[in-house]
Amino acid sequence: MKKIVGVFLFVLMGTILFAKEVLYVGTNAEFAPFEYMENGEIVGFDIELINKVGEKIGKEIKIKNIAFDGLLPALQTDKIDLIIAGMTVTKEREQFVDFSNDYFIANQVIIVPENESSITDVDSLKGKKVGVVLGYTGDLMVSKVEGVDKVQYNSAPASIMALAGGKIDAMILDSAPAQSYIAKNKGLKIVELDSEVEKYAIAVGKDKKELVEQINKALEEIKTEGIYDELIIKYFK
Ligand code: GLN
Repeated sequence: MKKIVGVFLFVLMGTILFAKEVLYVGTNAEFAPFEYMENGEIVGFDIELINKVGEKIGKEIKIKNIAFDGLLPALQTDKIDLIIAGMTVTKEREQFVDFSNDYFIANQVIIVPENESSITDVDSLKGKKVGVVLGYTGDLMVSKVEGVDKVQYNSAPASIMALAGGKIDAMILDSAPAQSYIAKNKGLKIVELDSEVEKYAIAVGKDKKELVEQINKALEEIKTEGIYDELIIKYFK
């Protein structure tokens, strides 16, 4: 018995001594190829990237899947330490959180049925039923155009389904996920926009300057070591 207790204590101490500090990372796994579900697991470009960052800074990464509009509140209330979710750096968000250096450049595009020809730019969305995802930058962009019948969805896949089912005329989404979703949904096409460039970055709580520096250093190394390019090829080529 004593022996068993001894072994148990030994293992326990080892676990405590060598356990890596955990970083809880919030994402919303409805944004392929950045984060999505595959065989019950959260996978994607962002997930691999943040795990590499974790390796570099010697911390264990634990992913939490949260609704996109719940991510910032979760970070502000310390339920998570970081957000990686294809999240665009915006002035509004910067009031509440800090961002790492950016790791991806994107822009907004319109997705329409293949036979749609009257929608060519943001202004031509007037009078149309346009799907957006709640709280996304695309949601904000459409809100600035008067006369658009905006329909908010909780996720990109939900909006894509509505579009494919003819419930809406068009939808707005970030460029890379738009490519990924139309590849899996026949009969849809992309209308490119000369919309503003958006920069994706990792969000960190306001009081965590040191963590932001560590993340930036890790991102830098991941780029110079070619790991970043490997991930780009894996998920986007
Ligand atoms: N880039 C967009 C935003 O930040 C969408 C992000 C996402 O859905 N994961 O609002």
